[in-house]
Amino acid sequence: MLTACRFQLLSGNLPVRLRFATMDEVDVVKGLQNVLDKVLAASSRRPEELQFVKPRLVAVSKTKSVDMIITAYEHGQRHFGENYIQELTEKSINPQILEKCPDICWHYIGHLQRNKAPKIVRISHLYMIETIDSDRIASAVNNSWGGVNAVDPLRIMIQVNTSGETEKSGVELSEASNLVKFVIENCPNLKFVGLMTIGEYGYDVTKGPNPDFLRLVSCREDVCKTLGLSKQSVELSMGMSDDFEHAIELGSTNVRVGSSIFGFRAKKPPVTNSAKEEGES
Ligand SMILES: *Cc1c(COP(=O)(O)O)cnc(C)c1O
Repeated sequence: MLTACRFQLLSGNLPVRLRFATMDEVDVVKGLQNVLDKVLAASSRRPEELQFVKPRLVAVSKTKSVDMIITAYEHGQRHFGENYIQELTEKSINPQILEKCPDICWHYIGHLQRNKAPKIVRISHLYMIETIDSDRIASAVNNSWGGVNAVDPLRIMIQVNTSGETEKSGVELSEASNLVKFVIENCPNLKFVGLMTIGEYGYDVTKGPNPDFLRLVSCREDVCKTLGLSKQSVELSMGMSDDFEHAIELGSTNVRVGSSIFGFRAKKPPVTNSAKEEGES
């Protein structure tokens, strides 16, 4: 009896749901500010020749609530990343998000199948697809995008498999220039803006620069040399919660950070065959 009374006193009359929402909000604001501070500090540690651009923070909101997205938006965050098309579709047409986040910029960072092209191009406020990794997918998205917006090309990045792990998506390093060339020459509705990689998980940076990030940096050099592009016109999307500062120091212009902003994320359930079509890596 006594225990029950104490509990009542401590927790007051706030409904449980609201108490959690408030805590989430505080944490998201803190998490976001903390990451932004670190992005800024890491940017200033870059060598002179990499100082030409301010890195963009993409807040990866997969599995996280609409309320958390709105909180981050209300504290200035504009770019958000998702890696399931269904989840992104639902969030992008959520009435609260449409009302409160008019300038939201969605990044699709999951694996993309050709048959999903018609669906992804209909997502409102789709800013960029970071995971184009074959000419067939590029063509499919190019054709679909032309049907919904023939005026502004859609920004895309080419995903590169820098770690050579078979379970990771992405074009092989040696094929990156060919795919970029294909997009530039054959996909008028797409705008090539950069290269993206995930890299091996859990690399220990005390061993020196992450070799996967270095490989993406030199891949950009190859692409630029082969196709006559300037380094400044080709972004690098690399770095997640564990290593975004390190990635920025090596030249990342686009970091994709989830759990450091929104908190721990439960591992997704084992992938079934029907769900294998899209998602992580
Ligand atoms: C989930 C995800 C991230 C963010 O991961 P965190 O470790 O939570 O920062 C970044 N990039 C891709 C492609 C992801 O799927």
